[in-house]
Amino acid sequence: MKKRHDIIVIGGGHAGIEAAWAAASLGADVALITMSWESVGRMSCNPAIGGLGKGQIVREIDALGGLMGLATDRAGIQFRMLNRSKGPAVWAPRAQADRDLYPLAVQELLSTARSLDIVEGTVEEIIATPHLDSEKSTDESAVSTSRRIKGVLLTDGRELLAECVIVTTGTFLAGLMHCGLEQTEGGRVGEPGAKGLSKCFESLGIELGRLKTGTPPRIHRDTIDYDVCDAQPGDEYPTPFSALTGAILQPQVQCHVTWTNNDVHDLIRSNLHRAPMYSGQIQSNGPRYCPSIEDKVVRFADKSKHQVFLEPEGYENERVYCNGVSTSLPEDVQTAFIREVKGLENARILQHGYAVEYDYVPTHQTKLSLESKLVGGLFLAGQINGTSGYEEAAGQGLVAGVNAARLLGNQKPLILGRDEAYIGVMIDDLITRPPTEPYRMFTSRAEYRLLLRADNADERLTPLGRSLGLVQDDRWRVFENRRKATLAVTELCSATGIRASLSRPETSVKDVAEVISRGSNRTFCIDAIENVLTAAKYAGYIKRQAKQIERFRKLESFLIPNKLDYHSMANLRLEARERLGAVSPKTLGQASRISGINPADITVLWVHIASLKKQKQSPQHMSPEVLSSPK
Ligand SMILES: Cc1cc2nc3c(=O)[nH]c(=O)nc-3n(C[C@H](O)[C@H](O)[C@H](O)COP(=O)(O)OP(=O)(O)OC[C@H]3O[C@@H](n4cnc5c(N)ncnc54)[C@H](O)[C@@H]3O)c2cc1C
Repeated sequence: MKKRHDIIVIGGGHAGIEAAWAAASLGADVALITMSWESVGRMSCNPAIGGLGKGQIVREIDALGGLMGLATDRAGIQFRMLNRSKGPAVWAPRAQADRDLYPLAVQELLSTARSLDIVEGTVEEIIATPHLDSEKSTDESAVSTSRRIKGVLLTDGRELLAECVIVTTGTFLAGLMHCGLEQTEGGRVGEPGAKGLSKCFESLGIELGRLKTGTPPRIHRDTIDYDVCDAQPGDEYPTPFSALTGAILQPQVQCHVTWTNNDVHDLIRSNLHRAPMYSGQIQSNGPRYCPSIEDKVVRFADKSKHQVFLEPEGYENERVYCNGVSTSLPEDVQTAFIREVKGLENARILQHGYAVEYDYVPTHQTKLSLESKLVGGLFLAGQINGTSGYEEAAGQGLVAGVNAARLLGNQKPLILGRDEAYIGVMIDDLITRPPTEPYRMFTSRAEYRLLLRADNADERLTPLGRSLGLVQDDRWRVFENRRKATLAVTELCSATGIRASLSRPETSVKDVAEVISRGSNRTFCIDAIENVLTAAKYAGYIKRQAKQIERFRKLESFLIPNKLDYHSMANLRLEARERLGAVSPKTLGQASRISGINPADITVLWVHIASLKKQKQSPQHMSPEVLSSPK
């Protein structure tokens, strides 16, 4: 085993995988430390990838050369394009994956990475040295970095050294699982937690918070009465996640839907005192938008039923995931309420639901590059940053991997804009408005969602990925071919006169295909026609959004000087001084998104900075405010 690497990634979950892959793709010598090789790529919760807002992230990861889309295409057992009845701007790809095949697909892909060592072990400690020289950091605010990363210490005493360490430990930091009144230490069912690291973060001066998430029971597939449930088939023509996948050829399975009822709700209500969330046993916040069934029964008391999606966990796997009834009620209550659900009267539970509480690192301590503000060279990605979900974790992992590699080369960090990618929206949200409950992506979080579509992720990001060095020749060829095909369709639409009809809602891919094939005696791929049609249908909205983006970019390009002393800005409200001081925004745009900051605060800030700049150029033009602000 080599003792020194460029970059160490702690954790082989969805963030760790993308971080290691991205950094290795950029030529860094990477060690991925995982508790076990076979757990790399394991799915803690539902083996499903994508969905609203999340499917777009997977496409973005793919466009930047990441792994998640490829692995899902190999291991998917049911593919659906959600929201197909609505406009393409909100279509979102989703796939149910095979729980056993997905990690294998990830491991196979990872084993092709250049310069990636897999080290089995548990990290106990992050080693950092006190450090005053701040020149090597991802941005100018490095002056706040008082320490620098040196390496890690494993529980068995091994020490590994590196220039950068990326922590992606998910729900494992001081993980505590709850099922009724029973509590077990661990990161997820059957796996130990990581205790040492929490203490180590505190000793480095990094503040920790605590969050919780939960999972539903899994039942045996042969104990479900499918005849009384609604079948939910996959798409007839499954759409792959990755631009590199030609077609999905594996057979697709069916999912089913059933409903809870008043008997289920009564049973849950009468046992709330045994639910850790209600007995006071769990104090930390859970995901508001992904509530447990006990939460739903309390918060939506007027509802007489809730959906339960019955989702198979694999071709061979006997377990069916009961999506919608996440719970940490005691086992006997779970068994009783599940059997009150239509179609599940004889259900046999193979794994009971549980909740897990874990430590996370609140993101006011992290930069937009995902590097810690407190320890230079230490990056954080995934659930440890307060997010929930595989896709959110993977998107951050990719960015952290890229930025760790760029730090080694003294290059500026990759910071994706809110107008470029959902990944950019997510990271900006995390850093600018640090979450206090698990953060998950929704389309509504993105103000430019008409531009951030799943179908144009490659147009938005593959050229960037290529320039960063993430996109290899094979992916670039596919991208260029797609671009050429789209251009050819656009030209033919003009030549055949159908262009004017493209923006009409009733014009379909089939209509366009017929006209342009007649006009050229050629056939065209549906994908290229769909591209042209979507662009035409949204042209008006996109033009309007482009104007908003122009305004947004102006604010984004207005840089805020480092070490601005907000507390001494007398014209700024006290609350604004505190909030700005806590986040240290890099631009006026970022400052405007901090919660509690209003347009008047931004004007004060703008005037102040403009005066500072003017003062730098000619000292005689100092405004009274600048004169009253100590430097
Ligand atoms: C019970 C439960 C319920 C969930 N419910 C949902 C849900 O409803 N919806 C949703 O979107 N997401 C849910 N998730 C979250 C989803 O699983 C995570 O968001 C996602 O897996 C996070 O990815 P990650 O890479 O950050 O961490 P993980 O996938 O948790 O991976 C962490 C990795 O780090 C390794 N590791 C940890 N500590 C160490 C150490 N000290 N040394 C070496 N290796 C270490 C672990 O072995 C693991 O491989 C749930 C997770 C759990 C556990």
